[in-house]
Amino acid sequence: MERKHVYTFGDKRAEGNAKMKELLGGKGANLAEMNLIGVPVPPGFTITTEVCNEYYTIGKEAAIEKIRLEVEAGVRYVEGIMGTRFGDTENPCLLSVRSGSRASMPGMMDTVLNLGLNEAAVEGIARKTGNERFAWDSYRRFVQMFGDVVLGMKPASKEDEDPFEVIIEQMKEEKGVHNDNDLTTDDLKEMVRRFKAAVKEGTGKDFPADPWEQLWGSIVAVFNSWGNDRAVYYRKLNNIPEEWGTAVNVQAMVFGNMGDSSATGVAFTRDAATGEDLFNGEYLVNAQGEDVVAGIRTPQQITKEGSQRWAELAKVSEEDRAANFPSLEEAMPSLYHELLETQQKLEDHYRDMQDLEFTIQEGKLWLLQTRNGKRTGAAMVKIAMDMLREGMLTEKEALLRMEPNKLDELLHPVFDQGALNRATSIAQGLPASPGAATGQIVFHADEAEEWVAKGHKVILVRVETSPEDLKGMNVAEGILTARGGMTSHAAVVARGMGKCCVSGAGALKISYKERTLTVGDVVMKEGDWMSLNGSTGDVYEGKIDTRDPELSGDFGSLMELSDKHARMYVRTNADTPHDAQVARDFGAKGIGLCRTEHMFFGGDKIIAMREMILAKDEMGRRKALEKLLPIQREDFEGIFEAMHDLPVTVRLLDPPLHEFVPHDDKGQQEMAEVMGIPVEEVKATVESLSEFNPMLGHRGCRLGNTYPEISEMQSRAIIEAALNLKAKGVRAIPEIMIPLTGTVEEMRMQEGIVRSTAEKVMEERGERIEYLVGTMIEIPRAALTADKIAESAEFFSFGTNDLTQMAFGYSRDDAGKFLKVYLDNGILKHDPFQVLDQEGVGQLVEMACERGRKARPDIKLGICGEHGGEPSSVEFCHRTGLDYVSCSPFRVPIARLAAAQANVR
Ligand code: PEP
Ligand code: MG
Repeated sequence: MERKHVYTFGDKRAEGNAKMKELLGGKGANLAEMNLIGVPVPPGFTITTEVCNEYYTIGKEAAIEKIRLEVEAGVRYVEGIMGTRFGDTENPCLLSVRSGSRASMPGMMDTVLNLGLNEAAVEGIARKTGNERFAWDSYRRFVQMFGDVVLGMKPASKEDEDPFEVIIEQMKEEKGVHNDNDLTTDDLKEMVRRFKAAVKEGTGKDFPADPWEQLWGSIVAVFNSWGNDRAVYYRKLNNIPEEWGTAVNVQAMVFGNMGDSSATGVAFTRDAATGEDLFNGEYLVNAQGEDVVAGIRTPQQITKEGSQRWAELAKVSEEDRAANFPSLEEAMPSLYHELLETQQKLEDHYRDMQDLEFTIQEGKLWLLQTRNGKRTGAAMVKIAMDMLREGMLTEKEALLRMEPNKLDELLHPVFDQGALNRATSIAQGLPASPGAATGQIVFHADEAEEWVAKGHKVILVRVETSPEDLKGMNVAEGILTARGGMTSHAAVVARGMGKCCVSGAGALKISYKERTLTVGDVVMKEGDWMSLNGSTGDVYEGKIDTRDPELSGDFGSLMELSDKHARMYVRTNADTPHDAQVARDFGAKGIGLCRTEHMFFGGDKIIAMREMILAKDEMGRRKALEKLLPIQREDFEGIFEAMHDLPVTVRLLDPPLHEFVPHDDKGQQEMAEVMGIPVEEVKATVESLSEFNPMLGHRGCRLGNTYPEISEMQSRAIIEAALNLKAKGVRAIPEIMIPLTGTVEEMRMQEGIVRSTAEKVMEERGERIEYLVGTMIEIPRAALTADKIAESAEFFSFGTNDLTQMAFGYSRDDAGKFLKVYLDNGILKHDPFQVLDQEGVGQLVEMACERGRKARPDIKLGICGEHGGEPSSVEFCHRTGLDYVSCSPFRVPIARLAAAQANVR
């Protein structure tokens, strides 16, 4: 049997349900579900995501033929419930056409409202409603939307203006009015006439009057919008696969613009910025949905409490507020209570914070959408932990509600209170998305990208943002808008990105032409520094210092919960006592990689290191190493002390030596003087160290095996440091790690040097400590012969940076040149240096674990490549049976959560 392509819903019945997101998209599945639980939803039908995918292979005509009969039946189903007829002139059925993919992509794709209107139907609607102005207002909106979305009238470049907006502005000027709402019915009729003339001029064709032609055009436009630039970019940003496709939802129109007993709004069941359990949202009387999110009129708050909070921030007096900006709770109390009950019903049903769209048509409430609301990292943690306490979620469910990468937002700096007290706020907007941002002002999204590419930090300042601005918003430190509320595009998108945003700062006068913003007598230009506080809505002139955030109680509880449910534990990659301490505070249970090479830079250390490298023979090297020994020992003492009682994996020297020598004349001259040798000799040695492929050259254990005295010095420094601490009553647990092992013989030779040195030192001191000797597994051959290597190595740590480099044959340093093209063209799904390639590199890891364990059942297994802090890679490590992952300090909480999720999933 041919598969079903269209699923109807309405009147508390539905062919789909909430579980069918893959086929019906998020919006379609939830529209069906809302019917099933008795929430009032305008009837309609959903065309499946499969049709969208087919559309892209079989083309427009064939796709339409495939679904024609089902769509026609769907329209009849809507007519039956509404008692109207599509295409009728007396009692026309008007439709909306909306996109809806599996994951929500707010504003990225297209929508057409009021479809089905033409010169005859508009009169019919006017007669039926007795509201001629409403009928013509709806018609002019339809012509404009259809013209933009379906007929391609939307301007392509930012310099061009929307021809419809130009006409609206012209008409307002001619009529001497400020507001769209002040135009008369005759003005609207004239506007429609001019709109249509503009369409004829722009496309060469008449505006279509046939409702079916309008409907098919709109359905196809939604399919096409899955492939538009901003949707493609949004998918990339959020890892949404192209194969998902979008569904198309066709629904009976309900109108929020039918007069003063009609309204439209957006609401959240809890606060999406802070997570507070507070129903909140915004609405507009006598308006259509896009008016709320577009930020054209300042929306009013839904609850009285929210309204009063807003008035305080907006410096609106209580009198003014109550008279001119009343909440829905005050203006339409019984509808407010119905909405309040409905939002609770939906939150209880979905057991998650919901983001709702509703319309009130002449005193009747309709829900147009519900979905799990986008939220900041802080809100994510608070909402899930609150719901756990409320008994709405189990511990495992609460853990799985978290997106590990979003924890990152909580760890970012906030303004230093002292610096903040000294700063003066020049304006205030709404606290749309929390965080502290400091940057240089730019006024256009594409310029934000250009500035950032040149290394600047920017604040994107706009009158309002639109989906076109997405890329610029993503690279900016923060976003400031003059118009729009808490549910404006800027606010919703910024919260999803975890980016600081202040919206609706109405006191700002922005001139795109002059590239200035003016507040009172302060004039700021492009390039001037400003700061934003997304938690209070304050806008400041100049830079303000930031400091580390304080982590809330919920964050701590989440981390405890994670450790309770995780099997793997988390270490950190750190090579200074400070980083070690930061990581320990974030819950690291040891150091998984201390790169010793970083210790040789800075101050006198590099001079001693260079002496060692430039020495002519072993004697010369030993002399220089003697100078390095106390320096290394001291460094190790600091790190061991910070990590007392926890294991510290110290890796012996890894990089090619030429990375340490001076390549400039001045540096070479300096070394010649220090060593008392001719500068030519220095130059010659430097030259002799240069290699064609240094990453495959004289590095890793190849250094330690050709210059054993280096490994000797480092082993001595490690053991002496541990013994010194033991004398102070501090317990150090060193694990000495050999880099870049490829054969067991290489490993054995290094092990011999390390162990004999350690024995010697402990004998000298007459005191012992416990230590391990193990290796990195970062060369494919080491993975293949892991059973042999495990005879010598007590632990393996997967160096997946090098392992990826060598498995793919992509240079870590040069891959940037082609990776972007590979990612853009889908040759690679992810950058393999960020997300572990489980299919290929993963096999090497699995094989090495299995073989290593066979040879040494109690071998300790971990990972210390960059992948150790990336959630999907952490999950792989869990499945593969690793004991721990190690990552940079700021990713430790993310890895702890990801390890728990992997275990409970
Ligand atoms: C690795 O190769 O994964 C690793 C951790 O070592 P480095 O990045 O220092 O080469
Ligand atoms: Mg490496």
